[in-house]
Amino acid sequence: KVIPVRRALISVSDKTGLLELAKALAAQNVEILSTGGTAKSIRDAGIRVIEVSDFTGFPEILDGRVKTLVPQIHGGLLGRRDLQDHQDQMKAHGILPIDLLCVNLYPFEATVSSGAGEEDVIENIDIGGPALIRAASKNHSHVAVLTDAAQYGPFIESLTKTGGSTFAQRRAWAQAAYARTGAYDAAISAWFAREAQEQFPERVVFSGQRKEVLRYGENPHQQAAFYTNDENRPGVATAKQLQGKELSYNNLNDTDAAFEAVAEFDEPSIVIVKHANPCGVASAKTLSEAWDLALRCDPVSAFGGIIAMNRPLDAELAGKIVSIFSEVIIAPKVNADALAILSKKKNVRVLETGSMPDSLAQGVMVKTLAGGFLLQNRDNGRPSDFKVVTKRQPTAQEMEDMIFAFRVGKHVKSNAIVYVKDKATVGVGAGQMSRVDSARIAAHKSAEAAEAAGLSEPLSKGSVVASDAFFPFADGLQAAIAAGATAVIQPGGSMRDDEVIAAADEAGIAMVFTSMRHFRH
Ligand code: 5GP
Repeated sequence: KVIPVRRALISVSDKTGLLELAKALAAQNVEILSTGGTAKSIRDAGIRVIEVSDFTGFPEILDGRVKTLVPQIHGGLLGRRDLQDHQDQMKAHGILPIDLLCVNLYPFEATVSSGAGEEDVIENIDIGGPALIRAASKNHSHVAVLTDAAQYGPFIESLTKTGGSTFAQRRAWAQAAYARTGAYDAAISAWFAREAQEQFPERVVFSGQRKEVLRYGENPHQQAAFYTNDENRPGVATAKQLQGKELSYNNLNDTDAAFEAVAEFDEPSIVIVKHANPCGVASAKTLSEAWDLALRCDPVSAFGGIIAMNRPLDAELAGKIVSIFSEVIIAPKVNADALAILSKKKNVRVLETGSMPDSLAQGVMVKTLAGGFLLQNRDNGRPSDFKVVTKRQPTAQEMEDMIFAFRVGKHVKSNAIVYVKDKATVGVGAGQMSRVDSARIAAHKSAEAAEAAGLSEPLSKGSVVASDAFFPFADGLQAAIAAGATAVIQPGGSMRDDEVIAAADEAGIAMVFTSMRHFRH
């Protein structure tokens, strides 16, 4: 049944849509109560409004920390209209019913994202707002609560037509209201956890704000939405889309994988990703050179891929990129002349992030499983202890390539085997259930790439190879030796390390242990 609105309380930090709402209420002769800043906006627009402090006879105090935290307001929101006892008590204490509450909160998340200092952040923890919202929502049988400007339109329509709102509307708004206060408190808690450098174990609260509802999830029959949190890490969540079709769930997931991978490298670098796995990674003097090398690694897979880079995208590279079909391009910056070239392929999604993320930064990853979820720190590890375990020492060039390969391996699904030559991948074996299969696949891809490039020898010949975890047997290593690798980097730590080292020595190759594993499942 429709509950008519006679008295409304509006207290909003974000004044979007405020005046339209106030006008519609005034047109229905609704009495409007408001806090300081909100009341001023309404009054300035020539709409009649009563200051909460005049209504309650109690001034706003403590720099606005206490504005609406008084019985006249909370009683007016919480009193039940269907209980005579409540009605009598309200009358006895001079409490008037409030039928509509419209509140949005101090911008806590935006304040944190802006990099504001502690005092500012704390002052932006809204106290009265959530209390109002929770009170009105509890009493949604009688009170309507609006917490998002997107709700004003439907409310105004209903108000104009019927003078109030229906139970179904109020219930939906109450649900949205509790979702908002829940996310708000989670954001506050996450800030405290971060401040205390206590990422783990129990203190992390995951919170986010819905950025958009996606067309569908990983598959068309799955629903999906994209949430952002206040981590403010340069990447897909904060990027500006300069052109192209709407990003899909898989696009977002793959683009994140590509951009996080390319952020590992200091020199101009390119990462091409397919299905969240790199199929070409290269560092070079220029992006354009890196592109040629990255593409050479697996030109077949690169078709329809995601391209990430760690330098501004210039016209030269844009000219090369448009020659193949790709889904998404992500760069810290896209030069105007490059964008002009890309605009010829208007479906290609082009994202600009403004800057590169710090790959050594802390962060949290979440994975759901039946009946719960797993949290872990992001893998920001980088080995610093390189121990040569073979008779042969690696050359400086091999060492450089091995470090590069191991870093790429961190972004390849396990089991990961990565062949590299001159800081460019020449074969990637990803996601196999046995390491020896990954090694064989990587070698096979390298032979195919060489063929495509018109070379007589597989690109793995004379390369180095990285394994994301130890070789449990010598067979995986032997597959790499057969493919022509001259140096191997791996964590070490297998029960059969001795056998593996012996096989390396027998083949006369160099092997380095990192003592750090980079599983990625
Ligand atoms: P205004 O701009 O109207 O002065 O303030 C609006 C903001 O004050 C809203 O975001 C609302 O959530 C918040 N607010 C309302 N009552 C209280 C209160 O008693 N204490 C605090 N800290 N914030 C309040």
